[in-house]
Amino acid sequence: MRVEELKSLGVDERVIRLIRERGIEELYPPQAEALKSGVLNGKNLILAIPTASGKTLVAEIVMINKILREGGKAVYLVPLKALAEEKYKEFKFWEKLGIRIAVTTGDYDSAEEWLGRYDIIIATSEKFDSLLRHKSPWIKDVKLIIADEVHLLGSYDRGATLEMILAHLRDKAQILGLSATIGNAEELAEWLNAELVVSEWRPVSLKRGVFHHGQLFWEDGSIEKFPSQWDSLVIDALKKDKQVLVFVNTRRSAEKEALLLGGKVQRFLSKPEERRLKQIADELESTPTNEKLKEALKKGVAFHHAGLGREERSIVEEAFREGLIKVITATPTLSAGVNLPAYRVIIRDTKRYSNFGWSDIPVLEIQQMMGRAGRPKYDKEGQAIIIAKTEKPEDLMKRYIFGKPENLFSMLSNEASFRSQILALITNFGVKNFRELIEFLEKTFYYHQRKNLEALEGKAKDIVYFLLENEFIDIDLNDQFMPLPFGIRTSQLYLDPLTAKKFKDAFEKLETNPNPLGVFHLLASTPDMASLRIRRKEQEDILDYAYEMESYLYQNIPYWEDYKFEKFLGEVKTAKLLLDWINEVPEARILETYDIDTGDLYRILELADWLMYSLIELYKLSSPKKEILEFLKQLHLRVKYGVREELLELTSLPMIGRKRARALYNAGFKSIEDIVKAKPSELLKVEGIGVGILEKLYQHFGVELPKVKAKKKQEEER
Ligand code: ADP
Repeated sequence: MRVEELKSLGVDERVIRLIRERGIEELYPPQAEALKSGVLNGKNLILAIPTASGKTLVAEIVMINKILREGGKAVYLVPLKALAEEKYKEFKFWEKLGIRIAVTTGDYDSAEEWLGRYDIIIATSEKFDSLLRHKSPWIKDVKLIIADEVHLLGSYDRGATLEMILAHLRDKAQILGLSATIGNAEELAEWLNAELVVSEWRPVSLKRGVFHHGQLFWEDGSIEKFPSQWDSLVIDALKKDKQVLVFVNTRRSAEKEALLLGGKVQRFLSKPEERRLKQIADELESTPTNEKLKEALKKGVAFHHAGLGREERSIVEEAFREGLIKVITATPTLSAGVNLPAYRVIIRDTKRYSNFGWSDIPVLEIQQMMGRAGRPKYDKEGQAIIIAKTEKPEDLMKRYIFGKPENLFSMLSNEASFRSQILALITNFGVKNFRELIEFLEKTFYYHQRKNLEALEGKAKDIVYFLLENEFIDIDLNDQFMPLPFGIRTSQLYLDPLTAKKFKDAFEKLETNPNPLGVFHLLASTPDMASLRIRRKEQEDILDYAYEMESYLYQNIPYWEDYKFEKFLGEVKTAKLLLDWINEVPEARILETYDIDTGDLYRILELADWLMYSLIELYKLSSPKKEILEFLKQLHLRVKYGVREELLELTSLPMIGRKRARALYNAGFKSIEDIVKAKPSELLKVEGIGVGILEKLYQHFGVELPKVKAKKKQEEER
């Protein structure tokens, strides 16, 4: 279908003009089918097509057209913060038509009223769920919800949130779900009363095969011969001047393979490429993971996994798109969402280790990895090759290439999310009694799928008892629920009720024994903190540490036979890490000591920040002691900035983080007053303080930066 023909479907001329300005004249067949489904007239739609076949453009047309025609807001839900940013950049294009776009992630305790001024709001599911709980005034204007990667409804820890959002808004707004190909798309569409468009069409054709000891069995039955090691597939692609993505099952193997492949890839780099890569590598900060990344980068290879810092990740993605990096080795995180195609995709592992031992990676995931093969505009076809090691190639072929992806299952029954969702229904969404609760739950995919009301009632009852017993809610003589302040606040803070209960149970100990380690261990022991795991070789050291520090903890050390024992040690390890952080142990040393990556550290710090805030908020409800509240607030700031108490005044300034604050302090500038009084030339001598930073500081103080020598002005601060 020609883009022009969209006019006959009622699409605004301005939208058509801008799409054509982008250089798109012809819609892909599944796009045309989707747009003809009635979605432009307000019907719900599930669009299940392969990655990179243009789902986003469909979403854009529907969104923009609706906003121009009817006003109101569209909410675009994404599974990851990084994707929110990516979409924001893409959608900014539409500002030309006066459409206002905003992103919101993080901070779960806010109604974000400012979002009322925007037409398109991009949010993670968790953030939007928290906005619903805060009853943001603009929610009533939301006329369209777009759920990107809606198949993640089936993900164990996060699926329930998305399911509940859709259950809440099913009757209030139009829903457009964008999905990977799944086994039971019909069922999902039925639940949402949506039209369904399913297609296997791709803009670049895909050729799939299985590699086994030098033989490559293509899906069409042909066989190609290679040297026996699978890395010959990498070399072969490079000889054709193409790029390669290699999927492996752990972060460590991604790193290891990147370094191994580097030795073979380097000779394919041109001199200017080598220079550019070296420059990129040299600019990266020095951390244990980055050292490996730098080494690989110089040879034209990179690894990509959830442990990389945000900046490193985007540097790697950018350099791959530019063609500088020839090969990326990645964990499956890359296949979900990040738009980074390559001519050849190699899947080294089809099994992975989890809590329950080795298991097969689901077909859905492997197919998403394979879907990354083929760069539109550059490649005529893409190739996806699975490596057979112990398995028979024909088995892999049957399962992953000719097989159907798994069905999607509701994860509402996952206890932690169900607990939190039921509390929210009672405290924030006006569900008045058990009958109404069940009535609402009947609107869920869980119920649609299993039709088993008894099981649902049983689970819900257990949770309601838990909430009653722990004073989140009360019940009156007519069996009507009464939300209690503790429950209301828990739900707004977006906490698992079990976390809130742990906090409340610890208040007494907190008051008699306020100390950082005790508080950090409390945070680490909640289900909302992603605590570190303990390695066997560390057990003894951490246990010794726990004994040494026992008087600071709010919990007894469990016996080693106790099933909680290992978990407890992991929590102590996490608490110890946080203690190091606020005592200004350098980041690189923390990463090394705890054997974690930058991404892990930041995740823990982010969670600790939110949990500290929540702990304070809940403590405020319990006739708090002033000095304890002060202690907690100060500790919260120390967690936020990673500093000792004496630096807190300096870190309250813009652009002054833990490193700069320490440098200023050690140079004798210990307070804001010291800085205000100091000569700029003196301040500029301090490490990390350049003219840009000074300008920001003076701006903050409301004065102009006195003249500084021009030479200094050119110095770039890092
Ligand atoms: P998906 O969301 O399905 O993964 P995208 O929407 O990101 O895929 O589309 C992948 C790329 O294809 C984008 O660069 C997009 O601009 C481009 N694209 C989408 N539709 C068309 C089209 N009809 N013609 C040409 N390019 C298109």
